[in-house]
Amino acid sequence: MPNFLTNSLNYYEDTAHKRLEFPVLKTLVSVDVCVIGAGFTGLGTALELADRGLSVAVLEAKTVGYGASGRNGGQIASGYAPGMMETEQIVGLDDARKLWDFSEQAKEILFGRIAKYNIDCDLRSGELYAAPKKSHLRWLEAEKAFCEDRYGYESYRWVNQEKMRVLLAGERYVGGLLDKEGGHLHPLNYVLGLAKAAKKAGVQIFENSAALSIDEKPKVLVSTENGSVSAGALVLAGNAYLDTLEVGSHNKILPVKSSILATGPLGEERAKFIMATEACVADTYFDLDYFKMTPDTRLIYGGQDISFGSSGLQNNSIRRNMLKTFPMLADVKVQYLWSGLLAATRQRLPDVGRKTNNIYYAHGYSGQGVPLSAIISRILAEAICGEMAGIDIFGRIPHKIIPKSKALQIPLFYLTLLWQKIKDRL
Ligand SMILES: Cc1cc2nc3c(=O)[nH]c(=O)nc-3n(C[C@H](O)[C@H](O)[C@H](O)COP(=O)(O)OP(=O)(O)OC[C@H]3O[C@@H](n4cnc5c(N)ncnc54)[C@H](O)[C@@H]3O)c2cc1C
Repeated sequence: MPNFLTNSLNYYEDTAHKRLEFPVLKTLVSVDVCVIGAGFTGLGTALELADRGLSVAVLEAKTVGYGASGRNGGQIASGYAPGMMETEQIVGLDDARKLWDFSEQAKEILFGRIAKYNIDCDLRSGELYAAPKKSHLRWLEAEKAFCEDRYGYESYRWVNQEKMRVLLAGERYVGGLLDKEGGHLHPLNYVLGLAKAAKKAGVQIFENSAALSIDEKPKVLVSTENGSVSAGALVLAGNAYLDTLEVGSHNKILPVKSSILATGPLGEERAKFIMATEACVADTYFDLDYFKMTPDTRLIYGGQDISFGSSGLQNNSIRRNMLKTFPMLADVKVQYLWSGLLAATRQRLPDVGRKTNNIYYAHGYSGQGVPLSAIISRILAEAICGEMAGIDIFGRIPHKIIPKSKALQIPLFYLTLLWQKIKDRL
């Protein structure tokens, strides 16, 4: 498993609330459900199951939030990564409507959990999609009209070029779309809050307890180095980090590296000049840049990192991208730079399902796991309790296969990226 935490400087780690410490598994534990992975999906599912009266043990290879959940952009978007027009083309009109409803419930569950468990995670409202080209604006306009007509979505607001110049310094973007129901949060504090709530609900969480093998019959037996969990059902929530365990539905997801930097504090005045909005921003390129301002006035700027080696704080591709957007920040020092793996599917829709009778999995949110993990964790819990309607809708998504061999995955990824870049430029 790639070790991204120890060799990088993660702003969220430095600003995290005090962590609860969880023990290493050293005995045989018997529960109704075992969950592998203590990120949004694993802990969300554990919480939903505990709420339904089931006993749950969560195994985490490192510490809570070690994976994508503790190191992401924290952006909360509506819908799905390809947009709803394309989603409808992939799954058809009826299932697209159901998926849209799920993505709306996702935000509701996410905001509901933050309120119910009183999770202090810098929640802010608004997500602004910024278009660097007129043709991208036309796509945004069509997507807005589509969501309004099909689903009655009323929260998109048009941002013309003049307004964009007020909201963001610089001249990179020619306009955009503001999603008033979107938002952003401190992802590590959110996942730590979920762990606290899960513990309170009776979930047993074990850290530094990697699942090493799974025996399926008659019950599921998951073994770690020093202990094991016997359970009636198992949830695989290891996402792009499940590498070492050969059980996931790995032929539909591709691990993609994304990196984020945080600048030093800009001060109130300069921060407001750079971004006169509390919304977070994502641009409309396929290999998008995404950014937001923190409460302590640092610019957090992320994007796809296609560098093959490590790079310095002041000399890296993410900083170069930041300066394309905000050239006036050339004098500002980068203080943090970290990376993580997200799981993407070829059509950028989540891959959720049942591997065998009692083994469930969810991954491949393709950069939208902050909200989507909330509804998907509920759907997993419902499925384990016998309500299959939700999981069946995700199961009907006609995912394309990704070759298992890393030697083929990497060229496939770069070819897709190149093709999308050409389309973006055209
Ligand atoms: C840099 C970056 C930026 C992103 N930005 C955004 C964003 O702005 N908005 C958004 O919606 N999404 C974003 N995402 C995606 C989002 O973070 C993920 O979709 C989401 O966190 C997935 O959560 P998860 O719980 O499914 O998986 P993860 O959070 O990846 O958790 C998986 C966990 O499983 C554990 N694990 C793996 N194998 C084992 C094993 N054998 N035994 C025990 N434990 C194991 C890992 O250690 C890990 O902690 C981003 C991702 C990255 C990497």
